[in-house]
Amino acid sequence: MAPPLVRFAPSPTGRIHIGNARTALLNYVFARSQGGGFVLRFDDTDRERSREEFVQAIEVDLAWLGIRPDVTLRQSAREALYVAAVQRLKDLGRLYPCYETAEELERRRKLQQARGLPPIYDRAARKLTPDDRAKLEAEGRRPHWRFELKHEIVRWHDLVRGDSHIDTASLSDPVLVREDGNFLYTLTSAVDDVDLTITHVIRGEDHVTNTAVQIQLFGALSDRPPPTFAHHNLLVAAGGEGLSKRTGALSIGSLRDAGIESLAVAALAVLTGSSHEVHPIASLAELSEDFDLARISRTPAKFDPAELQALSQRTLHKLDFESVRDRLAAYEITGFKAEPFWLAVRGNLEALRDVGDWWRVVEGEIEPVVEDAAFLEIACESLPGEPWDETTWKDWTGLVAQAAGRKGRALYHPLRLALTGRETGPELAKLLPLIGRAKASARLRGAAA
Ligand code: GLU
Repeated sequence: MAPPLVRFAPSPTGRIHIGNARTALLNYVFARSQGGGFVLRFDDTDRERSREEFVQAIEVDLAWLGIRPDVTLRQSAREALYVAAVQRLKDLGRLYPCYETAEELERRRKLQQARGLPPIYDRAARKLTPDDRAKLEAEGRRPHWRFELKHEIVRWHDLVRGDSHIDTASLSDPVLVREDGNFLYTLTSAVDDVDLTITHVIRGEDHVTNTAVQIQLFGALSDRPPPTFAHHNLLVAAGGEGLSKRTGALSIGSLRDAGIESLAVAALAVLTGSSHEVHPIASLAELSEDFDLARISRTPAKFDPAELQALSQRTLHKLDFESVRDRLAAYEITGFKAEPFWLAVRGNLEALRDVGDWWRVVEGEIEPVVEDAAFLEIACESLPGEPWDETTWKDWTGLVAQAAGRKGRALYHPLRLALTGRETGPELAKLLPLIGRAKASARLRGAAA
Protein backbone atom coordinates (compact mmCIF):
# COMPACT_ATOMS: atom_id res chain seq x y z
CA MET A 1 0.00 0.00 0.00
CA ALA A 2 1.14 3.54 -0.77
CA PRO A 3 2.07 5.54 2.32
CA PRO A 4 -0.77 7.67 3.70
CA LEU A 5 -1.18 11.37 3.04
CA VAL A 6 -3.14 13.39 5.60
CA ARG A 7 -4.08 17.01 5.96
CA PHE A 8 -4.74 19.41 8.80
CA ALA A 9 -7.08 22.11 7.58
CA PRO A 10 -7.53 24.99 10.02
CA SER A 11 -9.52 28.08 9.15
CA PRO A 12 -7.27 31.05 9.94
CA THR A 13 -9.98 32.88 11.85
CA GLY A 14 -8.32 32.60 15.26
CA ARG A 15 -5.39 31.08 17.13
CA ILE A 16 -5.45 27.31 17.49
CA HIS A 17 -6.21 25.82 20.89
CA ILE A 18 -5.38 22.47 22.39
CA GLY A 19 -8.43 20.85 20.76
CA ASN A 20 -7.25 21.91 17.29
CA ALA A 21 -3.73 20.83 18.20
CA ARG A 22 -5.17 17.41 19.00
CA THR A 23 -6.50 17.10 15.45
CA ALA A 24 -3.21 18.31 13.98
CA LEU A 25 -1.14 15.95 16.12
CA LEU A 26 -3.35 12.92 15.55
CA ASN A 27 -2.89 13.48 11.82
CA TYR A 28 0.83 14.01 12.15
CA VAL A 29 1.49 11.08 14.41
CA PHE A 30 -0.67 8.79 12.28
CA ALA A 31 1.15 9.84 9.10
CA ARG A 32 4.60 9.50 10.68
CA SER A 33 3.72 6.12 12.18
CA GLN A 34 3.25 4.84 8.63
CA GLY A 35 5.95 6.77 6.81
CA GLY A 36 3.34 9.08 5.29
CA GLY A 37 3.06 12.79 4.50
CA PHE A 38 1.30 15.73 6.13
CA VAL A 39 -0.29 18.65 4.32
CA LEU A 40 -1.10 21.89 6.12
CA ARG A 41 -4.03 23.42 4.29
CA PHE A 42 -5.45 26.77 5.29
CA ASP A 43 -9.21 26.76 4.74
CA ASP A 44 -9.34 30.49 4.11
CA THR A 45 -12.22 30.81 1.67
CA ASP A 46 -14.14 32.90 4.22
CA ARG A 47 -12.47 36.12 3.18
CA GLU A 48 -14.11 38.26 5.79
CA ARG A 49 -12.99 36.26 8.78
CA SER A 50 -9.65 34.85 7.58
CA ARG A 51 -6.57 36.85 8.62
CA GLU A 52 -2.95 36.67 7.59
CA GLU A 53 -1.87 37.12 11.21
CA PHE A 54 -3.67 33.90 12.13
CA VAL A 55 -2.05 32.01 9.24
CA GLN A 56 1.32 32.99 10.64
CA ALA A 57 0.39 32.34 14.25
CA ILE A 58 -0.86 28.84 13.37
CA GLU A 59 2.39 28.07 11.55
CA VAL A 60 4.39 29.20 14.57
CA ASP A 61 2.21 27.15 16.92
CA LEU A 62 2.50 24.00 14.82
CA ALA A 63 6.27 24.40 14.54
CA TRP A 64 6.48 24.78 18.30
CA LEU A 65 4.55 21.53 18.67
CA GLY A 66 7.15 19.86 16.45
CA ILE A 67 4.93 19.53 13.38
CA ARG A 68 6.82 20.02 10.12
CA PRO A 69 4.35 19.98 7.21
CA ASP A 70 5.58 18.45 3.98
CA VAL A 71 3.41 20.88 2.03
CA THR A 72 1.59 24.08 3.02
CA LEU A 73 -1.11 25.61 0.88
CA ARG A 74 -4.10 27.92 0.98
CA GLN A 75 -7.51 27.43 -0.49
CA SER A 76 -7.63 31.09 -1.51
CA ALA A 77 -4.90 30.31 -4.08
CA ARG A 78 -6.79 27.35 -5.56
CA GLU A 79 -9.96 29.00 -6.89
CA ALA A 80 -9.51 27.62 -10.40
CA LEU A 81 -9.95 24.09 -9.08
CA TYR A 82 -13.23 24.98 -7.38
CA VAL A 83 -14.52 26.73 -10.50
CA ALA A 84 -13.77 23.58 -12.52
CA ALA A 85 -15.41 21.34 -9.91
CA VAL A 86 -18.54 23.52 -9.89
CA GLN A 87 -18.70 23.25 -13.67
CA ARG A 88 -18.36 19.48 -13.46
CA LEU A 89 -21.18 19.25 -10.91
CA LYS A 90 -23.37 21.47 -13.07
CA ASP A 91 -22.63 19.29 -16.10
CA LEU A 92 -23.62 16.26 -14.07
CA GLY A 93 -26.87 17.99 -13.14
CA ARG A 94 -25.99 17.75 -9.44
CA LEU A 95 -25.80 21.47 -8.72
CA TYR A 96 -28.92 23.61 -8.90
CA PRO A 97 -29.56 27.31 -8.40
CA CYS A 98 -31.73 28.48 -5.51
CA TYR A 99 -33.06 31.95 -4.89
CA GLU A 100 -34.55 31.82 -1.41
CA THR A 101 -33.42 34.49 1.01
CA ALA A 102 -32.28 33.55 4.50
CA GLU A 103 -35.59 34.88 5.85
CA GLU A 104 -37.65 32.76 3.47
CA LEU A 105 -35.70 29.66 4.45
CA GLU A 106 -36.15 30.48 8.12
CA ARG A 107 -39.90 30.90 7.67
CA ARG A 108 -40.13 27.52 5.96
CA ARG A 109 -38.12 25.86 8.69
CA LYS A 110 -40.50 27.26 11.30
CA LEU A 111 -43.49 25.95 9.37
CA GLN A 112 -41.91 22.50 9.10
CA GLN A 113 -41.20 22.53 12.81
CA ALA A 114 -44.77 23.53 13.60
CA ARG A 115 -45.97 20.55 11.57
CA GLY A 116 -43.53 18.27 13.32
CA LEU A 117 -41.44 17.77 10.17
CA PRO A 118 -37.63 17.70 10.13
CA PRO A 119 -36.12 21.02 8.99
CA ILE A 120 -34.85 19.76 5.66
CA TYR A 121 -34.68 21.90 2.53
CA ASP A 122 -37.70 20.98 0.41
CA ARG A 123 -35.95 21.32 -2.97
CA ALA A 124 -38.51 23.90 -4.09
CA ALA A 125 -35.88 25.51 -6.35
CA ARG A 126 -35.52 22.24 -8.23
CA LYS A 127 -38.96 22.89 -9.68
CA LEU A 128 -38.20 26.36 -11.02
CA THR A 129 -38.53 26.60 -14.80
CA PRO A 130 -36.02 28.59 -16.87
CA ASP A 131 -38.69 31.31 -17.05
CA ASP A 132 -39.11 31.42 -13.28
CA ARG A 133 -35.36 31.74 -12.91
CA ALA A 134 -35.10 34.48 -15.50
CA LYS A 135 -37.83 36.39 -13.69
CA LEU A 136 -36.10 36.07 -10.33
CA GLU A 137 -32.81 37.20 -11.82
CA ALA A 138 -34.54 40.15 -13.46
CA GLU A 139 -35.68 41.15 -9.95
CA GLY A 140 -32.00 41.32 -9.09
CA ARG A 141 -31.78 38.02 -7.22
CA ARG A 142 -28.54 36.08 -7.46
CA PRO A 143 -28.59 32.33 -6.98
CA HIS A 144 -26.79 30.24 -4.42
CA TRP A 145 -26.11 26.67 -5.53
CA ARG A 146 -27.06 23.46 -3.80
CA PHE A 147 -25.67 19.99 -4.36
CA GLU A 148 -28.41 17.49 -5.01
CA LEU A 149 -27.83 14.58 -2.68
CA LYS A 150 -28.70 11.08 -3.80
CA HIS A 151 -31.00 9.77 -1.13
CA GLU A 152 -29.33 6.62 0.13
CA ILE A 153 -27.57 5.18 3.15
CA VAL A 154 -23.93 6.26 2.88
CA ARG A 155 -21.62 3.85 4.67
CA TRP A 156 -17.99 4.06 5.63
CA HIS A 157 -15.65 2.30 7.98
CA ASP A 158 -14.42 4.94 10.39
CA LEU A 159 -11.00 4.18 11.88
CA VAL A 160 -12.18 5.52 15.25
CA ARG A 161 -15.93 4.94 15.27
CA GLY A 162 -16.07 1.69 13.33
CA ASP A 163 -18.81 0.97 10.79
CA SER A 164 -20.77 4.17 10.31
CA HIS A 165 -23.66 5.25 8.15
CA ILE A 166 -25.84 8.26 7.45
CA ASP A 167 -29.15 8.38 5.63
CA THR A 168 -28.76 11.33 3.27
CA ALA A 169 -32.56 11.66 3.09
CA SER A 170 -32.24 13.15 6.56
CA LEU A 171 -30.03 16.00 5.26
CA SER A 172 -30.70 19.20 3.35
CA ASP A 173 -28.99 19.51 0.01
CA PRO A 174 -25.90 21.48 1.04
CA VAL A 175 -25.13 24.91 -0.36
CA LEU A 176 -21.75 24.76 -2.11
CA VAL A 177 -21.62 28.21 -3.72
CA ARG A 178 -22.92 31.32 -2.03
CA GLU A 179 -24.86 34.13 -3.65
CA ASP A 180 -21.70 36.24 -3.78
CA GLY A 181 -19.88 33.46 -5.63
CA ASN A 182 -17.87 32.31 -2.60
CA PHE A 183 -17.29 28.58 -2.35
CA LEU A 184 -18.20 26.83 0.85
CA TYR A 185 -16.02 24.51 2.88
CA THR A 186 -18.01 21.37 2.04
CA LEU A 187 -17.03 21.77 -1.60
CA THR A 188 -13.51 23.15 -1.32
CA SER A 189 -12.48 20.54 1.20
CA ALA A 190 -13.63 17.64 -0.99
CA VAL A 191 -12.10 19.19 -4.13
CA ASP A 192 -8.74 19.59 -2.39
CA ASP A 193 -8.81 16.14 -0.83
CA VAL A 194 -9.35 14.71 -4.32
CA ASP A 195 -6.75 16.92 -5.97
CA LEU A 196 -4.09 16.27 -3.35
CA THR A 197 -4.90 12.54 -3.22
CA ILE A 198 -5.43 12.68 0.52
CA THR A 199 -5.74 9.10 1.75
CA HIS A 200 -6.99 9.69 5.31
CA VAL A 201 -9.24 12.41 6.65
CA ILE A 202 -8.71 12.58 10.40
CA ARG A 203 -10.81 15.25 12.10
CA GLY A 204 -13.13 15.97 14.99
CA GLU A 205 -16.42 14.15 15.28
CA ASP A 206 -18.25 17.45 14.79
CA HIS A 207 -17.65 16.72 11.08
CA VAL A 208 -19.34 13.32 10.97
CA THR A 209 -22.45 14.61 9.19
CA ASN A 210 -20.30 16.30 6.53
CA THR A 211 -18.85 12.94 5.70
CA ALA A 212 -21.88 11.52 3.92
CA VAL A 213 -22.13 14.63 1.77
CA GLN A 214 -18.42 14.64 1.06
CA ILE A 215 -18.42 10.95 0.14
CA GLN A 216 -21.07 11.73 -2.47
CA LEU A 217 -19.01 14.69 -3.67
CA PHE A 218 -15.91 12.49 -3.96
CA GLY A 219 -17.97 10.12 -6.06
CA ALA A 220 -19.09 12.94 -8.35
CA LEU A 221 -15.65 14.50 -8.68
CA SER A 222 -13.37 11.52 -8.98
CA ASP A 223 -13.18 7.91 -10.08
CA ARG A 224 -10.98 6.96 -7.16
CA PRO A 225 -12.46 5.63 -3.94
CA PRO A 226 -12.98 8.26 -1.22
CA PRO A 227 -10.36 8.67 1.51
CA THR A 228 -10.58 6.69 4.70
CA PHE A 229 -12.20 8.67 7.52
CA ALA A 230 -11.43 8.84 11.22
CA HIS A 231 -13.49 11.08 13.48
CA HIS A 232 -11.92 11.56 16.89
CA ASN A 233 -13.71 12.56 20.06
CA LEU A 234 -13.52 16.21 21.05
CA LEU A 235 -11.73 17.71 24.00
CA VAL A 236 -14.10 19.43 26.38
CA ALA A 237 -13.46 21.67 29.38
CA ALA A 238 -13.88 20.24 32.87
CA GLY A 239 -17.52 21.39 32.98
CA GLY A 240 -18.26 19.52 29.72
CA GLU A 241 -18.42 22.62 27.51
CA GLY A 242 -16.55 22.71 24.20
CA LEU A 243 -13.22 24.49 23.84
CA SER A 244 -13.99 27.38 21.59
CA LYS A 245 -11.30 28.85 19.38
CA ARG A 246 -11.31 32.01 21.37
CA THR A 247 -10.77 30.49 24.79
CA GLY A 248 -7.61 32.52 25.13
CA ALA A 249 -6.06 30.65 28.04
CA LEU A 250 -6.10 27.36 26.16
CA SER A 251 -4.62 28.68 22.94
CA ILE A 252 -1.32 27.05 22.06
CA GLY A 253 0.32 30.48 22.22
CA SER A 254 -0.79 31.08 25.78
CA LEU A 255 0.27 27.60 26.91
CA ARG A 256 3.70 28.32 25.43
CA ASP A 257 3.83 31.72 27.17
CA ALA A 258 2.90 30.02 30.43
CA GLY A 259 6.05 27.89 30.13
CA ILE A 260 4.30 24.61 29.33
CA GLU A 261 6.55 22.13 27.49
CA SER A 262 5.46 21.47 23.91
CA LEU A 263 6.03 17.74 24.36
CA ALA A 264 3.59 17.76 27.26
CA VAL A 265 0.95 19.45 25.11
CA ALA A 266 1.59 16.86 22.40
CA ALA A 267 1.44 13.90 24.76
CA LEU A 268 -1.74 15.10 26.41
CA ALA A 269 -3.39 16.05 23.12
CA VAL A 270 -2.70 12.67 21.55
CA LEU A 271 -3.06 10.30 24.49
CA THR A 272 -5.93 11.77 26.43
CA GLY A 273 -9.37 10.38 25.65
CA SER A 274 -7.89 7.08 24.51
CA SER A 275 -7.04 3.78 26.15
CA HIS A 276 -3.42 4.98 26.39
CA GLU A 277 -2.17 6.24 29.69
CA VAL A 278 -1.10 9.89 29.50
CA HIS A 279 2.65 9.86 30.15
CA PRO A 280 5.64 12.11 29.52
CA ILE A 281 7.41 11.63 26.20
CA ALA A 282 10.92 12.48 25.06
CA SER A 283 10.04 13.11 21.40
CA LEU A 284 7.06 13.20 19.05
CA ALA A 285 8.46 10.11 17.36
CA GLU A 286 7.80 8.22 20.59
CA LEU A 287 4.07 8.85 20.12
CA SER A 288 4.20 7.26 16.66
CA GLU A 289 5.58 4.01 18.02
CA ASP A 290 2.41 2.35 19.26
CA PHE A 291 -0.11 4.64 17.71
CA ASP A 292 -3.52 3.29 16.82
CA LEU A 293 -6.55 5.43 16.01
CA ALA A 294 -8.78 2.58 17.15
CA ARG A 295 -7.68 3.24 20.74
CA ILE A 296 -9.39 6.63 20.80
CA SER A 297 -12.56 6.43 22.83
CA ARG A 298 -16.03 7.44 21.71
CA THR A 299 -16.84 9.68 24.66
CA PRO A 300 -15.63 13.28 24.94
CA ALA A 301 -12.17 13.69 26.48
CA LYS A 302 -11.95 16.03 29.47
CA PHE A 303 -9.15 18.53 29.31
CA ASP A 304 -7.72 19.45 32.70
CA PRO A 305 -5.19 22.32 32.74
CA ALA A 306 -3.78 21.08 36.07
CA GLU A 307 -3.02 17.71 34.47
CA LEU A 308 -1.18 19.50 31.67
CA GLN A 309 0.85 21.54 34.15
CA ALA A 310 1.85 18.42 36.06
CA LEU A 311 2.69 16.56 32.85
CA SER A 312 4.79 19.50 31.71
CA GLN A 313 6.92 19.26 34.85
CA ARG A 314 7.30 15.51 34.54
CA THR A 315 8.32 16.00 30.92
CA LEU A 316 10.92 18.61 31.83
CA HIS A 317 12.37 16.45 34.60
CA LYS A 318 13.15 13.71 32.11
CA LEU A 319 14.49 15.74 29.18
CA ASP A 320 18.03 14.78 28.30
CA PHE A 321 20.69 17.39 27.73
CA GLU A 322 20.81 17.08 23.96
CA SER A 323 17.18 17.94 23.60
CA VAL A 324 17.51 21.16 25.61
CA ARG A 325 21.04 22.20 24.61
CA ASP A 326 19.86 24.96 22.26
CA ARG A 327 17.23 26.25 24.61
CA LEU A 328 19.81 26.43 27.42
CA ALA A 329 22.20 28.28 25.12
CA ALA A 330 19.49 30.94 24.77
CA TYR A 331 19.97 31.56 28.51
CA GLU A 332 23.75 31.61 27.93
CA ILE A 333 24.08 28.28 29.64
CA THR A 334 26.97 26.81 27.67
CA GLY A 335 30.36 25.22 28.20
CA PHE A 336 31.48 22.11 30.01
CA LYS A 337 29.29 22.77 33.03
CA ALA A 338 26.09 23.00 31.01
CA GLU A 339 25.33 19.28 30.92
CA PRO A 340 26.05 18.38 34.58
CA PHE A 341 24.21 21.55 35.52
CA TRP A 342 21.15 20.48 33.55
CA LEU A 343 21.19 17.03 35.10
CA ALA A 344 21.48 18.59 38.56
CA VAL A 345 18.63 21.08 38.26
CA ARG A 346 16.08 19.63 35.82
CA GLY A 347 14.23 17.73 38.53
CA ASN A 348 13.54 20.96 40.42
CA LEU A 349 12.14 23.03 37.59
CA GLU A 350 8.52 24.05 37.19
CA ALA A 351 9.28 25.63 33.82
CA LEU A 352 12.46 25.76 31.80
CA ARG A 353 12.76 29.49 32.22
CA ASP A 354 13.57 28.99 35.94
CA VAL A 355 16.90 27.63 34.81
CA GLY A 356 18.49 31.08 34.73
CA ASP A 357 18.14 31.47 38.51
CA TRP A 358 19.96 28.22 39.14
CA TRP A 359 22.68 29.04 36.64
CA ARG A 360 23.34 32.18 38.68
CA VAL A 361 23.82 30.00 41.77
CA VAL A 362 26.47 28.02 39.90
CA GLU A 363 28.14 30.59 37.68
CA GLY A 364 26.96 34.00 38.79
CA GLU A 365 26.86 35.98 41.97
CA ILE A 366 24.34 35.49 44.76
CA GLU A 367 23.82 36.87 48.26
CA PRO A 368 24.40 34.03 50.71
CA VAL A 369 21.97 33.74 53.63
CA VAL A 370 23.98 33.53 56.82
CA GLU A 371 22.20 32.55 60.04
CA ASP A 372 25.08 31.26 62.11
CA ALA A 373 28.41 32.70 61.03
CA ALA A 374 30.46 30.69 63.54
CA PHE A 375 29.09 27.40 62.27
CA LEU A 376 29.71 28.42 58.66
CA GLU A 377 33.30 29.35 59.55
CA ILE A 378 33.86 25.80 60.83
CA ALA A 379 32.29 24.47 57.64
CA CYS A 380 34.52 26.68 55.52
CA GLU A 381 37.66 25.49 57.29
CA SER A 382 36.64 21.88 56.61
CA LEU A 383 36.30 22.37 52.83
CA PRO A 384 38.54 19.83 51.08
CA GLY A 385 40.87 20.79 48.26
CA GLU A 386 39.82 20.45 44.65
CA PRO A 387 39.22 18.60 42.33
CA TRP A 388 35.64 18.14 43.47
CA ASP A 389 33.06 15.68 42.32
CA GLU A 390 29.68 14.37 43.47
CA THR A 391 31.25 12.57 46.45
CA THR A 392 32.72 15.81 47.84
CA TRP A 393 29.50 16.88 49.56
CA LYS A 394 29.24 13.67 51.56
CA ASP A 395 32.90 13.74 52.62
CA TRP A 396 32.77 17.40 53.52
CA THR A 397 29.52 17.33 55.51
CA GLY A 398 30.91 14.28 57.34
CA LEU A 399 33.85 16.41 58.47
CA VAL A 400 31.60 19.35 59.36
CA ALA A 401 29.29 17.08 61.37
CA GLN A 402 32.23 15.96 63.49
CA ALA A 403 33.79 19.37 63.87
CA ALA A 404 30.54 21.15 64.79
CA GLY A 405 28.68 18.29 66.48
CA ARG A 406 25.59 18.73 64.32
CA LYS A 407 23.49 16.48 62.16
CA GLY A 408 20.31 16.46 60.08
CA ARG A 409 18.64 19.72 59.22
CA ALA A 410 20.77 21.73 61.67
CA LEU A 411 23.81 20.59 59.69
CA TYR A 412 22.54 20.77 56.13
CA HIS A 413 20.11 23.66 56.06
CA PRO A 414 22.52 26.49 56.97
CA LEU A 415 24.93 25.14 54.34
CA ARG A 416 22.23 25.23 51.68
CA LEU A 417 21.20 28.78 52.65
CA ALA A 418 24.77 30.00 52.47
CA LEU A 419 25.74 28.18 49.28
CA THR A 420 22.59 28.86 47.27
CA GLY A 421 20.78 31.69 49.07
CA ARG A 422 17.63 29.56 48.96
CA GLU A 423 15.57 27.38 51.24
CA THR A 424 15.20 24.49 48.82
CA GLY A 425 16.64 23.30 45.56
CA PRO A 426 18.55 20.59 43.73
CA GLU A 427 20.76 18.07 45.51
CA LEU A 428 23.80 19.81 46.90
CA ALA A 429 25.99 16.82 46.10
CA LYS A 430 25.46 17.74 42.45
CA LEU A 431 25.56 21.52 42.84
CA LEU A 432 28.64 21.79 45.05
CA PRO A 433 31.24 20.71 42.48
CA LEU A 434 29.63 23.08 39.98
CA ILE A 435 29.77 25.98 42.43
CA GLY A 436 33.46 25.24 43.09
CA ARG A 437 35.71 25.95 46.03
CA ALA A 438 36.32 29.66 45.50
CA LYS A 439 32.63 30.63 45.45
CA ALA A 440 31.75 28.13 48.17
CA SER A 441 34.25 29.49 50.64
CA ALA A 442 33.34 33.11 49.90
CA ARG A 443 29.65 32.38 50.43
CA LEU A 444 30.29 30.46 53.64
CA ARG A 445 32.06 33.59 54.91
CA GLY A 446 29.01 35.67 54.03
CA ALA A 447 30.37 37.39 50.92
CA ALA A 448 28.36 37.82 47.74
CA ALA A 449 30.04 35.55 45.19
N1 GLU B 1 -11.61 23.89 8.11
C1 GLU B 1 -12.28 22.81 8.73
C2 GLU B 1 -12.27 23.02 10.24
O1 GLU B 1 -11.43 23.78 10.70
C3 GLU B 1 -11.63 21.51 8.35
C4 GLU B 1 -12.43 20.30 8.65
C5 GLU B 1 -11.89 19.07 7.96
O2 GLU B 1 -10.85 18.57 8.43
O3 GLU B 1 -12.43 18.66 6.97
O4 GLU B 1 -13.08 22.51 10.96
